[in-house]
Parts: sequence; C-alpha cells; structure tokens
Amino acid sequence: MISLNKIHELPSILADQIAAGEVVERPASVVKELVENSIDAKSTEIDITVENSGLKLIKVVDDGNGIDSSQVKTAFLRHATSKITEQRDLFRVRTLGFRGEALPSISSVSNVLMKTSTGSIGTQIEYKGGKLVEQKAAESRKGTTVEVRSLFYNTPARLKYLSSPNTELAKISDIVNRLALSHPEVAFSFISNGRELLRTSGRGDLRQVLGAIYGVKTVAKLAPISAEGMDINVAGFVSLPELTRSSRNYISLILNGRFIRNYPLTKAVIEGYGSKLMIGRFPIAVVKVDIDPALIDVNVHPTKQEVRISDEPEIGKLIVGAIKQMLSDKQLIPDATRDFKKPF
Ligand code: ADP
Ligand code: MG
Repeated sequence: MISLNKIHELPSILADQIAAGEVVERPASVVKELVENSIDAKSTEIDITVENSGLKLIKVVDDGNGIDSSQVKTAFLRHATSKITEQRDLFRVRTLGFRGEALPSISSVSNVLMKTSTGSIGTQIEYKGGKLVEQKAAESRKGTTVEVRSLFYNTPARLKYLSSPNTELAKISDIVNRLALSHPEVAFSFISNGRELLRTSGRGDLRQVLGAIYGVKTVAKLAPISAEGMDINVAGFVSLPELTRSSRNYISLILNGRFIRNYPLTKAVIEGYGSKLMIGRFPIAVVKVDIDPALIDVNVHPTKQEVRISDEPEIGKLIVGAIKQMLSDKQLIPDATRDFKKPF
C-alpha cells in the first residue's frame, strides 16, 4: 500500500521517466538531442535515419570523438555530463548540451543501442526502459552510433498524444534542417523510410545548405546580410521582399550555433523590411548571431530552445539595420544615410 505521507526518493528509472517528459516530448526531440551530442563531439559527418516517423527507429551515426569504454555507462546516468564541471561553467557554455539529461531520458522510454569508440577498441551498450541490458566490447570505427527503437513503448499516454505520422516526420525534418543550417561545417544526411530528404556538403557554405533545403530557385532570391556591434556579430541570408511565406516559421535564428526561438528577434527580422512586406507575409531568413556566451543564460528551459539574452535590444537593432542595408544596397528602399537632392 502506498502511504501518502511518507516521503521517499523516487527510484532513478522513475525519475528519468519524469525528466523524459520534458526533454523527450516527441520523436523530433530525440533526433535533436542525439544530433546535438554528435555536434558537441566535433563530428564532421552525421547521418540520420528514421523509420515510421521515428517510432520504429531513429538512428544517428557520427564520426566524432566517441566515448571511452570506461565512461559509457556513466553517460547514461542522470546529470552526468562531460561538458561542464562547475557552477561558473553555466555562464560560458559553448556546447549544445550540458544538462546530462538526454541519454538517461531517452533510454528510459525506449530501447537504445549505442556503439561507440574513441579510436581504439569500441563498446556496445544496450538499455531498455532505463535498464541496462548488455555491455560488451565491439568493433567500431571512431565515432558513435545510437539506435533508438520502440520509442514511448512504456509510456502509452505519450504515444497517444503524438500527431499523425506525417506531422511527426515534418517536425523531425524541421529540426534536422535547422541543425544543418546552424552547422554548415558538418555534412548531414537525413533518410526517412529509405528516402533521402536532405544532404549537405559539410564545406561550411550556408548558401549550399539553404539550397539543399529550399532549392536553388529560392536561394537565388536570398541576399546576404551582416552587421557588427560591440562583441556582437550578425550574419546570414534573408529573402528579397518578393519572396515571402505565410508563416514566421521560415525565420531561423541561430545564437552561438544553437537555433533558438525568440520573439523579439524574430520581430526584428520582420521590422527590417519596414513596409516592404504585405500584412500576413513573412520572409525566409537565417540569421546567425554570435556573442560572448557570458551574455546568454541557456539554462532556462530543458530543451534549451529558449534562452535569455542580456543584449537583446542591441541585437535586434543590428538585425533591423542589416536588413535595411541589404534592401538599400539592392535599391529596394531609399538609403536613409544618403542625402537626397531633388533632380531638376
Ligand atoms: P549532455 O549532452 O547534456 O552532456 P547527454 O545525456 O546528452 O548529456 O550525454 C551525456 C554524455 O555522453 C555527454 O556529456 C558526452 O560526454 C557523452 N556523449 C553522448 N553522445 C555522444 C556522442 N555522440 N559522441 C561522444 N560523446 C557523447
Ligand atoms: Mg546531450
């Protein structure tokens, strides 16, 4: 019998499942967490495969640093991370992860098989529903492969709450696209049910990634923008006013290599166009902002898509200015800085 007034610590598997409720909302969240780990491991190539919108299989193969065999089990413990060690590290986070929650959360609600190697002899480890099934030495090239099967098999409520397979796949695709846009220096491939949906070169060329996602015709209507402020660097591509969409979703903001959701900065992108956009129409944009990590608090939300930025208004001004400048360079709006003399 459960006594209602006896306080006790939750078993770790249950605690992991509770954490998974926040970190692993849907298949796309698993893809995001695994790929972010691959990026943090300095991979140059990341191959993502899903079957049945990720419910049957999510597989991420990278050529990154790998995990030493002595550490593999620790990686699956809650709050176990190699990315920060002390409190002040929280304010200079340069990696995408740091909370040490993804692997224990994912493995508590699925069947996870990881093969990893730092270059010498590799390790294979398997978890199901948070329980270790097997760990053994295995042949493996340098890097890490994670296969997630039977996602949410033990949390039926979560399964039921998912949208249609097409919507879940679209959400995965959206995440993969944003990760690829954030890291043009990594060669991505994304295959769903045997069909290739994305391939990027990894040559560091943002325009090439945009082409792979939106097609060359669209890219021809994008223009580069850039601006610099005190310790702030803004760069990217935005569409000419003739190319718009009916949703804000095509505006991607990337802060220090992490794609974020941020209303004021999204608004700044739109504001840059002034009256050039029709009501209800929005540009396609990828805006990369690089600032001192000390000016950002990434520890606001478990998925880290929302962050607090101390210099937000300044960044907003730079974005507005960069887009105005581009439009005026293309002679789409009069240059405010130039003296206009009426011709006779
Ligand atoms: P976090 O990313 O917040 O540190 P995770 O649970 O996602 O937490 O991962 C735990 C640890 O496992 C990481 O800190 C990292 O050391 C290691 N790890 C996970 N995935 C990979 C990978 N693909 N390549 C190398 N190391 C990895
Ligand atoms: Mg992680």
